[in-house]
Amino acid sequence: MSIGIELINHYPWLPSLKKFYSDIADKAPTDFITEVFSGDSCSEIKSRLLNLFEAAFENKEEIYDYKIDRLNIYVYLILKIVLYVLNDKIITNRIANLYSKINYNELQKDNNEADLYDIGEDLKLNINYFQTPVKFGVNLVKVQRENLETKFTIHFIDYLRLASKLRDEHRKLAHNSLSNGYVFIQNRRLMRLFQEYIREKLIVNETKDIATLKAFIADVSEIPEFKDLYDKILTAWTKRKEDIDFTFEFNFKTHEDPMSVFPPCVKEILKKAQEGQNLVHHERLFIVWFLLALEYPIEKVVEIFSTMPDFDREKTTYQVKFAEKKKYVPYQCSTLKTYNLCMDAKYKDELCLDGYGAKEISERKKLKHPLGYVRIKQYRDEKNKKYLENRAKNEQIKESKNEK
Ligand code: SF4
Repeated sequence: MSIGIELINHYPWLPSLKKFYSDIADKAPTDFITEVFSGDSCSEIKSRLLNLFEAAFENKEEIYDYKIDRLNIYVYLILKIVLYVLNDKIITNRIANLYSKINYNELQKDNNEADLYDIGEDLKLNINYFQTPVKFGVNLVKVQRENLETKFTIHFIDYLRLASKLRDEHRKLAHNSLSNGYVFIQNRRLMRLFQEYIREKLIVNETKDIATLKAFIADVSEIPEFKDLYDKILTAWTKRKEDIDFTFEFNFKTHEDPMSVFPPCVKEILKKAQEGQNLVHHERLFIVWFLLALEYPIEKVVEIFSTMPDFDREKTTYQVKFAEKKKYVPYQCSTLKTYNLCMDAKYKDELCLDGYGAKEISERKKLKHPLGYVRIKQYRDEKNKKYLENRAKNEQIKESKNEK
């Protein structure tokens, strides 16, 4: 096997990293960080890492200017160190999801079979590559017949190991063609298995050895550039956490008119869905995450998509359940604005346009999150209801006094 250094630079999570960069592998983490953060590339590495964390905090699925040069190695290694230092399961999961997706996108962009084979070999997977594609089945979509063929097979043990956390029906071993213990696997599905490998590789359990962690943090905090990066990541996370802390209760079953407390961005997507218009990717993600955050029942979320031209109940149910399990946080207003999904002007919505918290518009706070909209609307509705109840009571008292 002759895995090249370019492949390692592109995909630093490969085991051969240790072989190509043995000089780094032999260094103590503190020495490694000191060296990286005192070099010429320090600011570039810091900016890439910060970019990665900020994107993960915002639940983004990709980074548009992702670079694949040699610095990628340092970014990956320091990323792992920062995750250890942060010791936070939620952050680790978010980074693992994003980083593995970025790499999946990179694999797809390349779609290079020689590289796929080399990667499989480097991961010590038992895979075969055939010069000419092998036919292994037929896919029937409505009246269309599509021959299924591939140049790859993977041993079922390796397949099961990597696919064990993937819940889609079509990935179950029983739904895949096998021959002599090998599963026929097309390029994209093989890439998806690699994505899972990367995700798992980044997920490490929170450490229980807090004393060692604290000592390490004290050591690396002496390195000013690292400390600066660490502080910036923590600030970004604290800020994001404030935006996503919506601890109000919302009950779909008892709420008389949930639509009345939904923000325009949500109303617009629901209206489009009701009219059978196709929803773009970000609209789909957002509406699912938003409704799940309010504990809307899964089957009802799925039902919203039933009018879509490409609706597939089984696939949608799987995706909604997956999102529910992952507890994704819906996009905040600034993200929705960048995707052109904010509808404040179209609906001339006062709360969205002018903010809240004071009579004077200039003193009001800006709305940051659609869930904040629900919380404020609900609070106002309850206040109004109480006011009306009290007024009715007072009038009754007045009337009974007059009668006497
Ligand atoms: S301001 Fe926020 S809540 Fe209001 S429509 Fe825009 S994105 Fe939605």
